[in-house]
Amino acid sequence: MRASKLFIVNLSVALMLFVGSFESVYSQYEALRGKKILFTYGGWAGHEPQQCKDVFVPWLQSVGAEVIVSDNLGIYKDSVLMNSIDLIIQTWTMGSTQTSVGRDGKPQPPDLDPQAERGLLSAVRRGVGLAGWHGGIGDSFRNDPEFQYMVGGQWVAHPGNVHPYTVHITDKVDPVTKGLSPSFQVVSEQYYMQVDPNVKVLATIKYNGDANAWIDGCIIPVVWKKTYGKGRVFYSSLGHVAKDFDVPEVFEIMKRGICWAAQSLHEPKEPWISPVYPY
Ligand SMILES: [Zn+2]
Repeated sequence: MRASKLFIVNLSVALMLFVGSFESVYSQYEALRGKKILFTYGGWAGHEPQQCKDVFVPWLQSVGAEVIVSDNLGIYKDSVLMNSIDLIIQTWTMGSTQTSVGRDGKPQPPDLDPQAERGLLSAVRRGVGLAGWHGGIGDSFRNDPEFQYMVGGQWVAHPGNVHPYTVHITDKVDPVTKGLSPSFQVVSEQYYMQVDPNVKVLATIKYNGDANAWIDGCIIPVVWKKTYGKGRVFYSSLGHVAKDFDVPEVFEIMKRGICWAAQSLHEPKEPWISPVYPY
């Protein structure tokens, strides 16, 4: 009886600390007040770009950001707009930067044409932040190395498809991950990515050999930050579908990453010299 009472008290304290740790960084969201954010969505529908928009845009507005929403990447050509924004959030899986042939045999215009791509890349190089998750920037425009150079990684496989796995927070000091549970479970795709070594890794995942024996024990970054030109780039591979953001840590990591990237034009570049891949 006494033991169970103690357990409940301990649980209450743990919960308070857990909620408190989220609230203690809530002031970070203040960084979004008055920020102008361009949210672009589209591409492969299996990643629920519209539903994800409905997760993020109301939250961004609730913390005082001004959000411009577009389902057409041609908006990156609008130089007046691109010169006025603080941050781009993109969720656009796959897509192409070149004209392709559709199922009807007719030419399909590119999702991101050269002029739009120049608008995007030059904005980030100038200091506009970029944030995204999963395939929305981690598997966009497979034919475009420069886009991948900006993001810092590219999806290549999700061995085992949707299954339970553990995310390990490896950087417990960075404000994006500080105070979060050291590890947490998700049931989702586990992204195997080719990653730029020049990123600051904040969380990792470890594979078993169930799907592909040769990657047993392999550790892959799952959350990172980097720069491209003067722009801050934030990425999390978590978020296969909108309900993945029901996991508090998954949503919180993305929220904090968005806050960090939105400060790109307003805060100095963060120096990190020696990227590491701890587990
Ligand atoms: Zn996916």
